[in-house]
Amino acid sequence: MEIFIAPIKFYSAVLLQNLVNELSKRFSSGIHVIDLKINLDDFFSVDRKQYFSTQIIAEAMKLTDEFDGKIILLTDVDIFVPVLTFIFGEAQLNEKHSILSVCRLHEEFYSGISNEKLLLERTIKEALHELGHCYGLRHCLDWDCVMHSSPGIEEVDIKGDTFCSKCISSIEGYKH
Ligand SMILES: [Zn+2]
Ligand SMILES: [Zn+2]
Repeated sequence: MEIFIAPIKFYSAVLLQNLVNELSKRFSSGIHVIDLKINLDDFFSVDRKQYFSTQIIAEAMKLTDEFDGKIILLTDVDIFVPVLTFIFGEAQLNEKHSILSVCRLHEEFYSGISNEKLLLERTIKEALHELGHCYGLRHCLDWDCVMHSSPGIEEVDIKGDTFCSKCISSIEGYKH
């Protein structure tokens, strides 16, 4: 099964390439960058100044029948679901689509200081996490596992950057 990354309002070509490279090392599946015509303005909440991730996924579902595999929508904009202040990502459990925002993975969001290495580490963890949900995994209690829940950036940094031995068996084509 293939993995497709669809950048939407995503501005770092270097980060995108590094993510593709890293996922390529870890999965035997092909990692493809695709172009989806989604106008995020349609999903912007004026009140919250954020974008409603569930609606973005719903829009993507209409446009992606031709892609057989898992799809990660990748964006720089800040995303939300109504019950939460913000989210890093959202995924359909055991289905095709997920979305990941790197808005709050940037270290400058917290400290004002840019850290590209840390940004890449966080992006890989959260991309694997959302993919894990698409492969049917729920949250894991093992802090070494990337499927541990991460409501805030501290948890993203603390948890491991790969799947635990229990979770890994659910991930098709995962090499290490
Ligand atoms: Zn999760
Ligand atoms: Zn696990």
